[in-house]
Amino acid sequence: MAKIFCVANQKGGVGKTTTTVNLSAGLAKLDQRVLLVDLDPQGNATMGAGINKASLESSIYQVLLGEADVAGARLRSEAGRFDVLPANRELAGAEVEMVSLENRERRLKDALALVAEDYDFILVDCPPALSLLTLNGLCAAHGVIIPMQCEYYALEGLSDLVNTIKKVHANLNTDLRIIGLLRVMFDTRMTLSQQVSSQLEQHFGDKVFKTIIPRNVRLAEAPSYGIPGVVFDPSSKGAQAYIAFGAEMVERIKTM
Ligand code: ADP
Ligand code: MG
Repeated sequence: MAKIFCVANQKGGVGKTTTTVNLSAGLAKLDQRVLLVDLDPQGNATMGAGINKASLESSIYQVLLGEADVAGARLRSEAGRFDVLPANRELAGAEVEMVSLENRERRLKDALALVAEDYDFILVDCPPALSLLTLNGLCAAHGVIIPMQCEYYALEGLSDLVNTIKKVHANLNTDLRIIGLLRVMFDTRMTLSQQVSSQLEQHFGDKVFKTIIPRNVRLAEAPSYGIPGVVFDPSSKGAQAYIAFGAEMVERIKTM
C-alpha cells in the first residue's frame, strides 16, 4: 500500500516542484514504485518529468471531476522511471467546478485509493496556495513534506500552513501529520542560512529532515531538458542530496 505525501508550502518558488520531481526520481533509483501527482495548474512537475502538458489526452482535471480514473490518465516518465498523473492549465477550472460536487475535499483521496497497491510512494506537488486543490492533497495524504529556504522570512507563513494542517487533521483526515521540514536551496557560505537552519532545529527538533538540499545550478537547469536533476547529472551535489533524501524517506516510512 502506497504512503501518500504532499509537498506543500503556500509560498511560490520555495522548491516544491523541484523536491517532488527529484524525490520521485531519487526513490525510483532506490527501486521504489512512485506516482507523482501534479496538483498545480502550472504543470511544472509534469514538464520537469519530461511530459508535454500541452498534449494531454486526460489529466488530473478529468480525474478530480470524475470523468477519468488515475489508471487511464497516468503517464510514464521514461527519464525519471516513475509514473505521473499530469496537470495543465485546465486544472485551474477544477477549483471552481469542484465546489458544487459532493465530497469535494476527498476527490483525490478516492481516486488514488484505486491505485494505492501499484506504488510504494505517491508524491503530490501542491500549488502555491491553501486552496481547494491543496485541501484535496492534504485530505489524501498520510503526511506533509514542507520545503523551506533558510532565509530571514522562512518562518513567516509557516504558521498558516501548520494551522491548516491541524484543521485538516481534526476535521477531515486524522492520518495527516507533518513528516518534516526540508531545508532547500541551502547556501553553506551564508551565515544567515546557518543561523536560520539551527533555529529550525531548535524549534522543530526531529521534524527537520537530516538531509539538506544545497543550492545547485544543475537542479535548476534540468527542467528545461524535461529530465529530473537526479537523472540529468547524477554526480552533482543536488542530485546526491535528493537521493540521500529518498533514502531518508524510505527509512521514515518503516516507522509509519
Ligand atoms: P515551487 O514549486 O515551490 O514554486 P520550484 O521547485 O519551481 O518552486 O523552484 C523555484 C525555482 O528555484 C526554480 O527555478 C528551480 O529551478 C529553482 N530551484 C529549486 N531548488 C533549487 C536548488 N536546490 N538549487 C538551485 N535552484 C533551485
Ligand atoms: Mg511548483
